[in-house]
Amino acid sequence: MNITSYDVVNPATEEIVDTVALADVADTDAAVARARRAFQSWRKVAPADRGRLLRRFAEVVDAHVEELARLEVRNAGHTIGNARWEAGNVRDVLTYYSAAPERLFGRQIPVAGGVDLTFHEPLGVVGVIVPWNFPMPIAGWAFAPALAAGNTVVLKPAELTPLTAMRLAQLALEAGLPEDVFTVLPGKGSVVGQRLVEHPDVRKIVFTGSTQVGKGVMAGCADRVKRVTLELGGKSANVVFADADLEKAAASAPSAVFDNAGQDCCARSRILVQRSVYDRFLELLEPAVTGFRVEDPSLDTAQMGPLISRGQWDRVRAYVPDDAPVAFRGSAPDGPGFWFPPTVLAPVDPKAPAVTEEIFGPVVAVVPFADEDDAVRMANEGEYGLSGSIWTRDLGRALRVSRGIEAGNLSVNSNSSVRYSTPFGGFKQSGLGRELGPDALHSFTDEKNVFIATEE
Ligand code: NAP
Ligand code: MG
Repeated sequence: MNITSYDVVNPATEEIVDTVALADVADTDAAVARARRAFQSWRKVAPADRGRLLRRFAEVVDAHVEELARLEVRNAGHTIGNARWEAGNVRDVLTYYSAAPERLFGRQIPVAGGVDLTFHEPLGVVGVIVPWNFPMPIAGWAFAPALAAGNTVVLKPAELTPLTAMRLAQLALEAGLPEDVFTVLPGKGSVVGQRLVEHPDVRKIVFTGSTQVGKGVMAGCADRVKRVTLELGGKSANVVFADADLEKAAASAPSAVFDNAGQDCCARSRILVQRSVYDRFLELLEPAVTGFRVEDPSLDTAQMGPLISRGQWDRVRAYVPDDAPVAFRGSAPDGPGFWFPPTVLAPVDPKAPAVTEEIFGPVVAVVPFADEDDAVRMANEGEYGLSGSIWTRDLGRALRVSRGIEAGNLSVNSNSSVRYSTPFGGFKQSGLGRELGPDALHSFTDEKNVFIATEE
């Protein structure tokens, strides 16, 4: 049977929010063909005009931040505070890259017998495949620089969370972006996503999602030497040394892992604590966890909402069997919705799946370490290397450990990983390539070298 529509469910209430038509392979091919035609004119739009259109898109998003945020609360169960930040992030990323078309400089390289110039040429149609955990920001990190560089974009949202992406596509048209420059195509990963990977006229894939699906995407892209950026999973460490501001480290540790109900590729889901302060740290952590507000995500006071789906709830639950070493837990509402309380595991077997695997839920393991070498060794265990935090007052140690941890995004005495003006991406199996920051356009262009003879 061919399933042609999908019922979007509010994860806080289990009520149906909307029914969305799903694209099939023929729809995908048609969208790519339109995007390919649109590319011929979009690439020729003067740099300043392309920048102006992206700024106008940013302004229209800004005027709809509250609407987009409310939509994300209903579709994804995000807290309203987070959802406002997420919509604002789309605006900010568009604004940041709106300056890029006029700064997409090539070089003039000294050579014999002529002049040598380089150009950063757009690729063509870019396929963007996003997950359900941060539907708006992850989409914006790809489509804003891709459009700025002169590409057209076909974006496939996750089946669970298509609504804000669909609304952003309408807002792009309202802002004056030409038709077919930015297309959002809801559909299944195995249908629309797969077709974007295989389609010969899609010149680049930006994939964010699980490492498992990402490997298949990479293999599919290899067939056509298609450019690919992968943003995959993580199992990031929050490393707390004995000399740190323990009160601050403990007070901020819950939001570093329970934000977005732990459904965050940067979640610090392993807290590594120096053994001499391990008990003290747990004492400080407990009130921060039990006081973490898990409630109706539309309330301004909410710090955490539900998990995205029943399926995700089941997956997370499997990491906390009845005999799990739960040190303490926060609370969660009863009744409908995919609620899971913040859960702290300690002491826990370092080989337990909850310590070694990405859970993508509000579960954290607190593990002791002996010294600096031990901390770096433990932080580097496993296949991932996305982000992490280091808490210490010793600047030399902060830098040594930052250099020692194999991860793309580290923060010292802070848990924040993402700024649109700085590069973001993974080491090891957490990904390939970088998004955001000043160089993002280079992954949406190919460098061309032109030699012009000047000899008579
Ligand atoms: P997922 O199952 O890998 O899905 C991600 C996207 O890929 C969805 O849009 C999905 O579509 C699509 N897809 C599925 N099968 C596909 C195929 N064969 N070909 C092409 N596309 C396909 O991941 P998820 O469960 O949605 O998200 C959770 C994972 O994403 C976690 O592992 C997390 O760490 C990772 N993540 C990483 C980052 C980062 O920046 N590094 C950010 C956020 C999330 P459907 O859902 O419609 O099937
Ligand atoms: Mg999936």
